Amino acid sequence: MVRATFVLWVVLFSLPAIAGDFDEWATGQTLRVDYVHTGTAAEEHFALERLRVEGEWPGSRTQLLDTTNRGKYLVEVVDLATNRLLYTRGFASIYGEWETTGEARAGVWRAIPEAVRVPEPRKPVQLRIRKRQPDQSFEEVWGLTIDPASRFVDRAPVASYDWVALVDSGPAAIKADFVILGDGYAASQKEKFVADAQRATDALFRYDPFKARKSDFNVRAVWTPAEHEGISRPRAGIFRESPLGARYNSFDSERYVLSLDDRAWRDAAAVVPYDFVLILVNERKYGGGGIFGLYSTAAIDSGFYDYLVIHEFGHHFAGLGDEYYTSPVAYEEFGGGRVEPWEPNITALLDPENLKWRHMMEESTPLPTPWEKDAYEKRSRAYQKTRAEMRAAGAPEEDMEELFREGQAHFTKTLGEQEYSGKVGAFEGAIYEAQGLYRPSVDCIMFTRDEVGFCPVCDHAVTEIIDLYSK
Ligand SMILES: [Zn+2]
Repeated sequence: MVRATFVLWVVLFSLPAIAGDFDEWATGQTLRVDYVHTGTAAEEHFALERLRVEGEWPGSRTQLLDTTNRGKYLVEVVDLATNRLLYTRGFASIYGEWETTGEARAGVWRAIPEAVRVPEPRKPVQLRIRKRQPDQSFEEVWGLTIDPASRFVDRAPVASYDWVALVDSGPAAIKADFVILGDGYAASQKEKFVADAQRATDALFRYDPFKARKSDFNVRAVWTPAEHEGISRPRAGIFRESPLGARYNSFDSERYVLSLDDRAWRDAAAVVPYDFVLILVNERKYGGGGIFGLYSTAAIDSGFYDYLVIHEFGHHFAGLGDEYYTSPVAYEEFGGGRVEPWEPNITALLDPENLKWRHMMEESTPLPTPWEKDAYEKRSRAYQKTRAEMRAAGAPEEDMEELFREGQAHFTKTLGEQEYSGKVGAFEGAIYEAQGLYRPSVDCIMFTRDEVGFCPVCDHAVTEIIDLYSK
């Protein structure tokens, strides 16, 4: 009886005590800091654009410090008077990818708009952006003092767009909140957008751990009609002034769909509480992208839309790295000396004894873990060559999808019948490098388009982020 009373007391009084701490320093609204991130591979700079208050704080009010150690950058909010750390979150950015391209290495400057969203403080704070160093420490690259009482904080009401709730599980503060946006939908296509958003939602919750944890999520879709159908596809000579600015051919990679119009999509997303963003592009042509803590994109009419939705969301939601390594990409990050990648599903295996997913392995699995790498590479490189030739010849999307389906059938079979299929180990070949970088499973949705879901290490990495947003 005494124990039962004690448990009740803990439940009743400990939760408000923690939440009360948040209420003490934060208003419950969201502060968005818009800035420009500019430089070359050799130097980087930040410049403030504006401070904006927008909507209810959608994140946790109890898990304010990020314990997952992911991302190339880290935002920190520090109380100015006491120097107390109030809020931290790891993230990645388009700039962080761009600075690894050949263009940035050649000394070309670019300026990319970015933003961080943090709880609106009641009192002046220091906001710091820190960047991960090769030794995994974080070094401050930008800092500014923010006085929330300043008249330079924009408090205009958020834009008004229609939206619908597709999954409604409870208050934003204790749920991971997804917003689905649509780009390239003509005004007459609202019904199609809502149906597409539902298809994307079904794809996301098709695999664990999203499936098993569905009640920890809210999903809302915001309607942003365009003047014309479709988005910009520069390689086809098609340019559109689409509402969210999404386009193919980012960093000159045809299939890479990103928006550099940070304000446009954020203004639309802010209509609802959101922690994570999925931008559907109203296109058949295969393409997508996903950046940790920013957004993911997917061509919703592709025959492989479900793969695009879940794979790209894996990058965005949990900072998962690409486990594949035989397709061409623009970035050249891992060309030099090896350091352990921050991505939770990639390792340089510098210290096998302390491999970050060692606790998920069976004792008898060897490191590195043998797999039929030569046979895979031979087939995969032949397939990539055919893919490039077909693209260059302007092959219709149906033919590309047929090629993908052939590859999918072949790789599902061959990767599924190896000695260590289904086991956690360290399989050489990951994140665009054939040697020296390793992935945790022989197959995974971060490796192929095979319908195998997330490998156990990716599953665990996604679960940790769900936990960070749902308590
Ligand atoms: Zn994986």
